[in-house]
Amino acid sequence: MKDIFKVKNKFRLLTAFCLSLLFFCLFALSACGEKTLEDISQNLSTYNLSVTFDESDNTLCGTETVNYKNNYETTLSCVKFHLYPNAFRQGATYSPVSLRNFDKAYENGFSAGEIDISSVSVDGKSIEVEIEGNDENILNVDLFQEIFPGEGVSIQIVFEVLLPNCVHRFGYGDNTYNFGNFYPIACVFENGEFVQDNYGSNGDPFYSETANYNVTISCDDDFTLASSGTQKSKSVENGNIVTTISASAVRDFAFVLSKKFSVISENVDGVTVSYYYYDDENALKSLQTGVKAIKTFSNLFGSYPYETYSVVKTNFIHGGMEYPNLVYISDTVESYDDYLNVIVHETAHQWWYNMVGSNACEYAWLDEGLTEFSTLMFYRYNDGYNVVESDSLNASLSSYILFSEIYESVYGNFDASMSRNVNDFSGEMEYTYISYVKGVLFFDNLEKTAGEKNFLKALKHYFKENKFTNAIPDDLISSFEVTTKRNLEGFFNSWINGKVILQNYH
Ligand SMILES: [Zn+2]
Repeated sequence: MKDIFKVKNKFRLLTAFCLSLLFFCLFALSACGEKTLEDISQNLSTYNLSVTFDESDNTLCGTETVNYKNNYETTLSCVKFHLYPNAFRQGATYSPVSLRNFDKAYENGFSAGEIDISSVSVDGKSIEVEIEGNDENILNVDLFQEIFPGEGVSIQIVFEVLLPNCVHRFGYGDNTYNFGNFYPIACVFENGEFVQDNYGSNGDPFYSETANYNVTISCDDDFTLASSGTQKSKSVENGNIVTTISASAVRDFAFVLSKKFSVISENVDGVTVSYYYYDDENALKSLQTGVKAIKTFSNLFGSYPYETYSVVKTNFIHGGMEYPNLVYISDTVESYDDYLNVIVHETAHQWWYNMVGSNACEYAWLDEGLTEFSTLMFYRYNDGYNVVESDSLNASLSSYILFSEIYESVYGNFDASMSRNVNDFSGEMEYTYISYVKGVLFFDNLEKTAGEKNFLKALKHYFKENKFTNAIPDDLISSFEVTTKRNLEGFFNSWINGKVILQNYH
C-alpha cells in the first residue's frame, strides 16, 4: 500500500508537472502567436447595416446601427461621419469626376447621386440631423455625454441613397450597380480632430478605421451579389433575395450587383477566391491571377486572414478600385495584359490599404507606390505574364523624366515632392506620376539600397507591426531602419520631399 501510495503520489506530481508545462507552453504560444481575426475584432467598432435596393428608382434605403468604440486616447463628445455619396450631388464643390473624365463617367449626361439622412439617434435617444463639412460631406453626431477611451456608444442612422447613372465607385452603368463608399462611415480621429477630407477626383481620398460589419442586403432576386466579407445566408422574402453577410476587421464594406454576372471560384489555403464577370473569354486565367496574387503576397508579406476574396468586373471609369475582400476591375481596360495587371495591383491593396491602412489623402505614395511595386514583384515569382520587371522600371523612369520636363516647361517649375495632400496636386496626371510612377522608382531604389533580403524582411516587419491599424511614413522608415540597422532618414527625406535627382538614378 505504502509503495503503491508513493507511486501514485509520484504519478500525481508528474501529471501535475506535465499539465503545468503544457499550460505554460500554451500560454507562451498564445502570447507570441498571431492574433486571430476574432481576437482583433473584439476591440473594434461594429457597423450593423440593413439595406434594400430598389432598381425602379435606383435608391438604397437602410438603417445603420454603429456600436462605436472609442479606441483613441482621448474622450470624445461627438462622432463625425463621411457622407461620400453627397460628392455626386448636383452643385457639389468637390466632384469625384474630373472635367477631363466627365463624358466618360456620365455616358448619358450628368446624373445626380446623394445621401439623405432622415434620422439619427444615440443610445436610443433621437437627436437633430446635423450635416456639415465644407461640401455637405460630414454628418456630426453629438453624444449626450462624453465617451472615455475604451467606452462605446450606439449610434443609429436611417438613410437613403440615390445611385447616379455614373460608371464610378458609387453609381451604375449598363452592366453593374456599384456600391462603394455608400454609407456613413466614421472619420478617423487624429491630432485632436476628426479628419474630414473631401471626396475629390484625385486618387482614392478615403481614410477609415478597421471595423466589423454585419450587413443584410435585400434586392431583386435576379441580381447576383458580390460583396466584402462572407455571405452567411440567403432567403427569399416578397420576391426579394435577402443576403446576410459578416466581415471582421475590415476597413470598409462594398458590394456590386449585376444581372449579367457569371461566377467561378477556387480555394487557396482556406480562402475562397471568386471571379464575378461578364464578357471574358479568359475567365479562368483572370481567376487564376487573383489566386496567384493572394498566394504570392501571402508568402511575401504575411498571410491573408479572411475567408473570401472577390475580383469583380464592373462598369468603372478607372482601371480598378480596392475595397476589403473585394476589388473592382474595369470592363474598359483595353488590353488583357493590363486587365491582369489591374487584378494584381488591386489584390496587393489587400495588404497595403485594407490590412495596413494609411491616410490616402496625405500619403498616397505610401499605399499606391508600395502597391505598384508589389505588383512588379508579383511577376518575379509568376511566369506566364508579359511583363519584364527591368523593362517596366526603365519605362517608368523615362516616362517620369519626360513628364517632369514637360511639366516644367509648361508651368515654369516642377514640384517632385510626394508628401502632398491629394487635393494639392494640379490634377490626376500629376498625382499619378508622383504617387505611382515616382512611388515605384522610390521602392525600387529602396530595395537596391537595403538589399533584396532586407527589403522583404522590412516589409514583413512593416506588415506585422501595422496590420489592422493606420500607418504613417515613420512606421515604414522605422521598419527599414530596424531591419537594416542603418539610419535611413536622409534617404527617405530626399525621395519623399523631392530632392532626389532622378536623372542620376540607376
Ligand atoms: Zn491602387
